Amino acid sequence: MNNYRVLLYYHYTNIENPDEIREDHLIFCKEIGLLGRVFISKEGINGTVSGTVEQTDLYMDVLKNHPLFQGIDFKIDESETHVFKKMHVRVKNELVNFSLEDDINPLEITGRHIEPREFYQRLSDPDTIVIDARNDYEYDVGHFRGAIKPEIGTFRELPQWIRENKHLLVGKKIMTYCTGGVRCEKFSGWLKKEGFDDVGQLNGGIVTYGKDSIAKGQLWDGNCYVFDSRISVPINRVEHVIVGKDYFDGTPCERYINCANPECNKQIIASVENEHKYLGACSEECRTHPRNRYVAKMKINQI
Ligand SMILES: [Zn+2]
Repeated sequence: MNNYRVLLYYHYTNIENPDEIREDHLIFCKEIGLLGRVFISKEGINGTVSGTVEQTDLYMDVLKNHPLFQGIDFKIDESETHVFKKMHVRVKNELVNFSLEDDINPLEITGRHIEPREFYQRLSDPDTIVIDARNDYEYDVGHFRGAIKPEIGTFRELPQWIRENKHLLVGKKIMTYCTGGVRCEKFSGWLKKEGFDDVGQLNGGIVTYGKDSIAKGQLWDGNCYVFDSRISVPINRVEHVIVGKDYFDGTPCERYINCANPECNKQIIASVENEHKYLGACSEECRTHPRNRYVAKMKINQI
């Protein structure tokens, strides 16, 4: 039974006093009984929360009617349970860590919003280039077929990467995408400011694309990484191609584990067999760590 929902949303808007909003918002979320993670900054709100249908209905209703959040859009996933353990509301300098010397205000400059069905059609256009605006570990478990994966560790390295790889983009139509859209609002705006003129962004992000009745998630390979206990969710409703690779032997795999060394915790993709073979650890150092969780669990099972 799907009595729960997961909401994903963002809204760029000028918030004069984020600390004040943060306090009120945390109290409000706790009163309703939501769990999740919300970020507030001077430039807006970005969050993902889980709760029952009634709780999430109430939450959406209040935000939609809040003077600061007029026009906010919610992506809704059905769920059997909560997908978070706690409720956090935090104040951040930026909604997404982009750390630009000249910050972008998406309310002033941003790429054209492309609806999923048009995005789907243009995926097959040879003059269009598609850039993934997420981190590499997100790309690795799923992405649009043929999309460029910038070789970056974090989102903030993206501008540098684009400048160094400008030759790939010159003269092309550019489309960008990310999980829910919040990163592309800035990234596509930055691309325009950088001098690229035909720049579009997937409206509503990957999660919306998967729900569109025409696109049906097609040309998406693998799963979509999400920042909650589900780890990844399916997008393509027509076919499923596994793109994830086992960390140890490179075979197709989509099973995420955390490195068994509690001080490392690195998220890796690994089969049950390889998790066992390598004691759940990403390196020799982590394998032999005195507090290796996998080793501890095996010892308990032997007793
Ligand atoms: Zn490790």
